[in-house]
Amino acid sequence: MPRILVFEVKQEISSFNPLPSGYENFHVIEGDRLTAHRGLNTELGGAFSVFDGRPDVEVIPTILAAAGSAGILSAAGWKTLSRQVLAAVEARIGEADAVYACLHGAMGAEGELDPEGHLLTEIRRMAGPDKPIVMSLDLHGICTDRMLKQVNGLALYHTYPHVDFGDTGMRAARLLLKILDKGVKPVIARVVIPALVRGDELITATGCYGDMIRECQRIERDGTALSAGIMIGNPFTDVPELCSQVLVSTDGDPATAEREAIRLAGEFWPQRFRMQGKLIPLERAIAQAKTMKGPLIFTDAADATSSGATGDSNAIIAALREAGYEGRVLAQIVDPAAAAAAHKAGVGATIKVSLGGYHDRRRYVPMAVEARVKLLSDGQARLETMKTPLDAGPTAVLTFGNFTVVVLSKTISLFDRAMYYANGCNPPDFDLIVVKSPHTEHHMFEAWAEKNFNIDAPGATSADLKSLGHTICARPMYPLDDIATFNPSATLYSRR
Ligand SMILES: [Zn+2]
Repeated sequence: MPRILVFEVKQEISSFNPLPSGYENFHVIEGDRLTAHRGLNTELGGAFSVFDGRPDVEVIPTILAAAGSAGILSAAGWKTLSRQVLAAVEARIGEADAVYACLHGAMGAEGELDPEGHLLTEIRRMAGPDKPIVMSLDLHGICTDRMLKQVNGLALYHTYPHVDFGDTGMRAARLLLKILDKGVKPVIARVVIPALVRGDELITATGCYGDMIRECQRIERDGTALSAGIMIGNPFTDVPELCSQVLVSTDGDPATAEREAIRLAGEFWPQRFRMQGKLIPLERAIAQAKTMKGPLIFTDAADATSSGATGDSNAIIAALREAGYEGRVLAQIVDPAAAAAAHKAGVGATIKVSLGGYHDRRRYVPMAVEARVKLLSDGQARLETMKTPLDAGPTAVLTFGNFTVVVLSKTISLFDRAMYYANGCNPPDFDLIVVKSPHTEHHMFEAWAEKNFNIDAPGATSADLKSLGHTICARPMYPLDDIATFNPSATLYSRR
């Protein structure tokens, strides 16, 4: 009876968010509580469905520690978190025949810029050289040399906006069972591409990145590869191995893994120019919006909380007010002081508060408003696709003039409509909706909007990558630097 130890550790950080995160940012559960993911569209949910389909497989759930995207994890937070994760795994590793490591890949901590590499190194040391370890990663993760030296195999997300959480967990679980049952011996070819990419061409359903991902899916399905994917990294996670990279694994066939990885990297490289954010100046977008019927989406990807920004940007609403835009505006902002003032005053009260610039004072100037408290909530919701919980803390809907603003106490993911719905706001009822995510699932906003403007605004996750000031990632790196030639070459990884 194969026994499979399962753990999950996930966070995505922006090095350009001035506010470090801590242990308290993590939602941590241990043991059998992980099985609450059964039936959910998450990696664990997908992996459990595969393992549960095999009566001879026993799952050993150990620990799940997941945090919303944020600034770099503090040294103290990392120390507490890593010790807890490693203790939970160590307590059960002796009983396990194999390990499924459910990771994101874009963590970063003060004093440890490859946290996942550290965890996998320690877990490999505990497990010994022979127990298979398979990991799954978000395509926005940074897969490092140290991580690849510890694992036998991997599965990567194939969709953006992400919808294949469960599918990725299923592919990881099936790969692990193939290693255990059939003795397949993955050899992984890694080709590092010195490019950071952003923009609409990354939408896998419609963009050129999706065309390359479909080749990865094809070679997985037709048996050429055990797994294949193209990771683009989170360009805001400034760590030494930040890059784009192709990862292809085969069953003991290094030549095919290398050939396919080099082929895909060769297709990716010339398309790097297309895969950049195309931004419109805020003033121009507002001038156009004033003449349009709407509804309009103002995408504020520079303050994308799901990529690690603070969420307290008021740049767009301040400019709309300043410009005298008269349509009905719906927006979200992180401002715990304003939310607390609203909760103190109560529904129906009028309060004078400042909005925005709470965390990122270098980028945003607090905006004074006299607002009516329309609604108060506990800030609880569930993500639309994954159905996992969101906790924004005390939340208030404030209205002033033509503006309706959902004010959150905590920085949480805002890549869907969950927080709007949970606070009584229906986006199509407004003329202009601010969305703090580079992309959302099409049906959520774009399907019914007249136009989606990608706004050039300041923020820790701006698509204007040159504006951010990377200092740690390997150089040269497009588009931070000009690179004349690139000759793809593969590094091979395999465990005995
Ligand atoms: Zn992602």
